[in-house]
Amino acid sequence: MNTRWQEDLVSGPHDLDTLLASGAISPEDATALRPVLDQYEFGISAHYLSLMDPDDPKCPIRLQAIPDIRELHAHSGEVSDPIGDARHAAPPLLVHRYPDRVLLMPTLRCPLYCRFCFRKVLLTEGPAPRLGAEMDKAMTYLGDHPAIHEVILSGGDPLLLSDSRLQHILERIGAIPHIRRVRIHSRVPATLPHRFTAELISLLERHAPITLVNHVNHPREIAERTREAWKALRHAGVLLLSQSVLMRGINDSPEVLTELFETLIDEGVKPYYLHHLDPTVGTSHFRVSLDEGRALMAKLRGRISGTALPAYVMELPGGGGKVQVDSSAVTRSSREGLWHLTGPFGDEILYDETLLGIEPRRTTPSTAFNGSR
Ligand SMILES: *Cc1c(COP(=O)(O)O)cnc(C)c1O
Ligand code: SF4
Repeated sequence: MNTRWQEDLVSGPHDLDTLLASGAISPEDATALRPVLDQYEFGISAHYLSLMDPDDPKCPIRLQAIPDIRELHAHSGEVSDPIGDARHAAPPLLVHRYPDRVLLMPTLRCPLYCRFCFRKVLLTEGPAPRLGAEMDKAMTYLGDHPAIHEVILSGGDPLLLSDSRLQHILERIGAIPHIRRVRIHSRVPATLPHRFTAELISLLERHAPITLVNHVNHPREIAERTREAWKALRHAGVLLLSQSVLMRGINDSPEVLTELFETLIDEGVKPYYLHHLDPTVGTSHFRVSLDEGRALMAKLRGRISGTALPAYVMELPGGGGKVQVDSSAVTRSSREGLWHLTGPFGDEILYDETLLGIEPRRTTPSTAFNGSR
């Protein structure tokens, strides 16, 4: 028998007919969206769908979960592997970009196939978690590289693995002496909070220290069940951080970001990263310009506690690592929309926003606090 979270996962829509039956789209939409689903994975957990306002076409839950015909529009600067995962995919399941830390991707399944995802071309409902021989090779690689101190479980979503598979992986990592910490990047807290059973929480507690980086983009994604899960995780000694992706129409306003970051910190989740959207093919309808992003962050600085402010970062296209957007690593180049990026390993890259489907325009600089709020 399925447990509650498994039920929640499989009973949500995973094809256009069930999406149509849920009332989220019209029959015309269902026909128009067929080519999008031929190209990309689709699926929404029942929990996440329940957060959607069915009457609001601009609902931030809807925009992130329901496919859009614009996903088929490619701009010349967009690519399928924007952050160069392939270039750094040393052995199977691993992406080794930084000397001291490595991504381990034990599954390519997700509780929600986010329409903006930078790995959307890779993701697949496909065969069950990739363990066996591939995992053996990945573990051998970890054991052979003493410079690696941290393993970051990513994917796909690592918390879709069964407890026994997770335990198996955590035990094998725990047996490698130079691995000092494990981090889990997950969208499950916002999309499938019933996954946090007492068994899972105790499993994480037994494998301390564990950091859980919660992917949350909008305050509406923080349900009561999510808050309860965070409370239990905190009591179990799991360090809670968050990452969000800055997106047009979803969270590109000071009001939404303020509510998001303040709610997170009030729930004991420290905002860690605000990601600039990667130039993934078919995501231009979510894109915000670097100028707009910087102006938003400048506004927040004066508005909310420093403890609630994440670092605003972007990936160097091609896999040169992350840089902080509001720093000297990102500078204007010869014309509007053209930027010069300097990566943590010295890569120098020209980043042309005009090839990514955004109209560059300067936003007005943030105004100082005027005492009227
Ligand atoms: C983002 C990322 C990390 C983690 O970077 P932090 O700045 O430590 O959060 C590690 N490996 C890869 C490949 C990444 O893309
Ligand atoms: S859960 Fe993460 S990896 Fe999966 S589709 Fe969403 S953003 Fe991409």
